[in-house]
Amino acid sequence: MAEKILVTNDVQTDGVEELKKAGYDVDILPNMNEDEFVKVVGKYDAFITRSMTHVTKKVIDAADHLKVIGRAGVGVDSIDIPDATKRGIVVVNTPESNTLAATELTCGLIIGVSRFIPQANQSIMEGRWDRKKFVGQQLQNKTIGIIGVGRIGSRVAKRMQAMEMRTIGYDPYIPRERGDQLGVDLVDLDTLLKESDYITMHVPLTDETRGMIGEDEIAKMKDGAYVINASRGAVLDIYALADALKSGHIAGAGIDVYPKEPLTKDANPFLGMQNVVLTPHIGANTREAQRAVSVDVATGVMQALRGEPVPTAVNMAPVSKQVYAKIKPYFELAERMGTLAISLCDGAVTGVTIEYIGDLADVDTNLLSTAVLKGILNPVMQDSVNYVNAALVANNRHIAVKETKLNSDPEFVDAIRLTLDTEKGQHKVVGTLFNKGEARIAKIDGFRVDFEPKGYFLVAPHRDQPNMIGQISTILGKAGINITGMQVGRSEEKGQNIMTIAIEKDIPDEILDKVRAIDGIVDVKMVCCEPQL
Ligand code: NAD
Repeated sequence: MAEKILVTNDVQTDGVEELKKAGYDVDILPNMNEDEFVKVVGKYDAFITRSMTHVTKKVIDAADHLKVIGRAGVGVDSIDIPDATKRGIVVVNTPESNTLAATELTCGLIIGVSRFIPQANQSIMEGRWDRKKFVGQQLQNKTIGIIGVGRIGSRVAKRMQAMEMRTIGYDPYIPRERGDQLGVDLVDLDTLLKESDYITMHVPLTDETRGMIGEDEIAKMKDGAYVINASRGAVLDIYALADALKSGHIAGAGIDVYPKEPLTKDANPFLGMQNVVLTPHIGANTREAQRAVSVDVATGVMQALRGEPVPTAVNMAPVSKQVYAKIKPYFELAERMGTLAISLCDGAVTGVTIEYIGDLADVDTNLLSTAVLKGILNPVMQDSVNYVNAALVANNRHIAVKETKLNSDPEFVDAIRLTLDTEKGQHKVVGTLFNKGEARIAKIDGFRVDFEPKGYFLVAPHRDQPNMIGQISTILGKAGINITGMQVGRSEEKGQNIMTIAIEKDIPDEILDKVRAIDGIVDVKMVCCEPQL
C-alpha cells in the first residue's frame, strides 16, 4: 500500500505533483486546528506544513505512523523538534530554496540605491522629468565589502564581480582557500569597513552578529559609502545608520530587514530620506523561490521516507538502538567539546581530528563526530547546521575531518580527544564522563582541568604567579558579574597555567579586554556551551 502524505497548508502544486508522481497517496487538508489535526494525523507516514500549523507534542503523540515532518520554509519554531527527535521522526526544511532570491534582491538594492531607481520612478509617476536630480554612481572598479561569505554572500560576490567590482569579505569562519576560490579577498572587519565603497551584510543572527554594525563601525566607513542589509534586522543599528545618512557621511542605504518587523512609521528613522531604498522583507519573495520551497520539501520528505540521508534534516538521523545506547551518554559531551574548542580558536579551522579512546573505539561513532562538528559550526551558523548536514557543511568549508580509534591510551581510559587545526595554530580538548553520564572536560591545550562544559565561562591561560584569581575576580565583581565556579588547571610545564571561570551570563567585550590587560594573562576566551540539542 502506498505511503500516505498529508499537506496541511498552502504549498505550491509543483511539490505536491512530485509526490503524486512518485506514487505517494497525498491528501490536502488546510487550516486544521490542533484537535482536528490530532484526529487525522495517525493515518499518515509524513506531513508537510508551513509555519501557520503548530506541530505540538499532542499532535506528534497522536501520529502513530509518522516518519517525516516536512516544513516548507526555513523556521522550525512551530514544530516540537525534541519530541519529534525522541520519536525518531525526521524533520526536514528548505534552507537553500531562497538563497538566490535573497542574493538577487541584494543586487537590486545595490543598483537601486546607486542610481536612485525608486526615487526616479516616483518622480516620473508624479508627472516630473527630473533628469538632473538623479545623478548616481557607477559600480565598476568600486570595492564591495561582504560581511558573511556563506550561501548568499558568496553568490552576491559572484554577481558583483560581473559588474567589475573588487570583492573583499569578512568571514573569520571560512579558510583563505575558500575566499581564493570565490575571488574574494578575506580581510579583517576594520579593513573591510575602511576600504569598501559598498558594505553588504550576509551573516546569520548570532550573539556575535547582533548589533555587529553600529555607530562605531559606521564611523569607520569611507565617506560616501553605501550600506546594504538583507540578512537579519538586528545585525545593523538602523538608527545610527540614519544619523550617518543625514550627516552625509554615508551616501545611501538599501535595507530589506529591520530590528522589529513590520517597521512602523513611528519607528522608521529613514522617513523622508531620498538616499535610501527600503523593502518590506521581500528577500525570499519570488515565484521561483516559492516553487523551490515546495519541490525541495517534497524531495526531502521522499528521501526520508526511503530511509536515505536528508541533507536538509534539522534533527538527527535515527541510529540503531544498540549503537545509540552506547554513544548516548557522550552525545552532549561531544557537541559541547566542539563548541568549547572552537571558542578557543582565533583563525579559521582547517582540520578537525577526533580520537575515540577506550570503550568508544569499538562502536560506530559517526553520529558523535557529527555532534562534535555541529558544536564547532553552531556558534557561527546557528540553525543552518544540524546533525545530518554538519559533515557536509564542514566539507563545503574545506575543513578536513579525521576520526581515529584508540583501544588504549597512556592518559585516559574512556575519552574523546579533539584537536582543531586553525590558520593560527592548534587547540586540543579532552572530554570524558564522570559517573558514566556527567560530561567533564579533562584537558585543555595540555593543561589538566576538571569541569562541566555547561553555560557561560571564561578560559584564561596565564603565567603561574600569585594573585591572578584575585585580579580577575575584582574586575568581574566590579562589573557586577556573578562567578558561579572557578578552576585552576595543572600542567607539567612550570610557569603557565589555565583558569576556567563559570559566570552567569555573557559579558561585554570591554570587560574581557580589562581581564586581558592584566599582567600575566596570556589570553581570555568567552565560551557559551549551551548547544541546541
Ligand atoms: P550561511 O549560513 O550560508 O552564511 C552565513 C555566513 O556568515 C557563514 O559563512 C558564516 O561563516 C558567516 N558568519 C557567521 N558569523 C559571522 C561573524 N560574526 N562575522 C562574519 N561572518 C560570520 O547563511 P545564508 O543562507 O547566506 O544567509 C545569510 C543571511 O541572510 C541570514 O541571516 C539569513 O537569515 C538571511 N536571509 C534573508 C532573507 C531575506 O528575506 N532578506 C532570505 C534568506 C536569508
